Amino acid sequence: MLAYTYVEHGRFELQEKPVPQLKDPHDALVRVTLGSICTSDLHIKHGSVPRAVPGITVGHEMVGVVERVGEGVTSVKPGDRVTVNVETFCGECFFCRHGYVNNCEDPDGGWALGCRIDGGQAEYVRVPHADQGLNRIPDGVSDEQALFVGDILATGFWAARISDIRPDDTVLIIGAGPTGICTLLCVLLKRPRQVIVCEKSEERARFVREHYPDVLVVLPEACREQVLGHSAHGGADVVLEVAGADDTFRLAWECARPNAVVTVVALYDRPQVLPLPDMYGKNLTFKTGGVDGCDCAEILRLIAEGQIDTTPLITHRFPLDRIEEAYHIFENRLEGVIKVAITEKQQ
Ligand SMILES: [Zn+2]
Ligand SMILES: [Zn+2]
Repeated sequence: MLAYTYVEHGRFELQEKPVPQLKDPHDALVRVTLGSICTSDLHIKHGSVPRAVPGITVGHEMVGVVERVGEGVTSVKPGDRVTVNVETFCGECFFCRHGYVNNCEDPDGGWALGCRIDGGQAEYVRVPHADQGLNRIPDGVSDEQALFVGDILATGFWAARISDIRPDDTVLIIGAGPTGICTLLCVLLKRPRQVIVCEKSEERARFVREHYPDVLVVLPEACREQVLGHSAHGGADVVLEVAGADDTFRLAWECARPNAVVTVVALYDRPQVLPLPDMYGKNLTFKTGGVDGCDCAEILRLIAEGQIDTTPLITHRFPLDRIEEAYHIFENRLEGVIKVAITEKQQ
């Protein structure tokens, strides 16, 4: 089968590999019907994910059809259409039992697919702990509608969940990339009084204005002033930092009101400074990533009900055998790309 592979620092390559075999009774083999490229794939390519193993098949955003299951798998069966969770978790350890599945103690726990074990920019993927890692896609929900459930949408949903958003709140989201928009969609489900999105790219700002007209979109340089003007208590009640740029962590806590929650979803390339003397007396609560991706069934239900729609994020489509072109466009942010869907290879 074709598998897009992390060869070495700076180089991915489409290779021919054998179809994966089940290794454990809790494994499932999934035929990938639709995948995507995530910014984290680029982080692997450029060496900022040191635990990524050269030689692995990359890709951790995908949906597919169950081809085979081990004898210990009970929640899905061959033929089921499923979303695949970016995180592998056992469902039984201390962290899993408390919902902190990102910190699962299993050797494959956490973000393993497409990082430490073979992922889904391929024709088939082996999914360990399939009872936790796969969710059945409801009838009436398309592959494109379900594509982001296991990764960026799970991240946005988790971020909104842990941020304690209330109806009277002014919520600031920094960054309107794909994960920022997924976060926005999940924040909107909480119906806060005002949502402000800070985004420096004109293209992305326009996308938010077009699709979510009730949201106020501001530039970073005007952010502090605009947030102050739209909040009742000297800053945003909740800030979600999804940009991960050099100065956005500082912007996040500076725009927060005293006693606010600041949720850091972003994955930074560099260490960030927490200048405690500057923020002394502001009594902020910081919450940090990565995602505990254990809400996929609920997210699929919300999609089926029409409450979440991420399909506008898919701006480009390429078959697997042309994935190089897809990477070129995604990596260089060409043609107004937000997300690329990778379809099955052309026959
Ligand atoms: Zn990702
Ligand atoms: Zn666990």
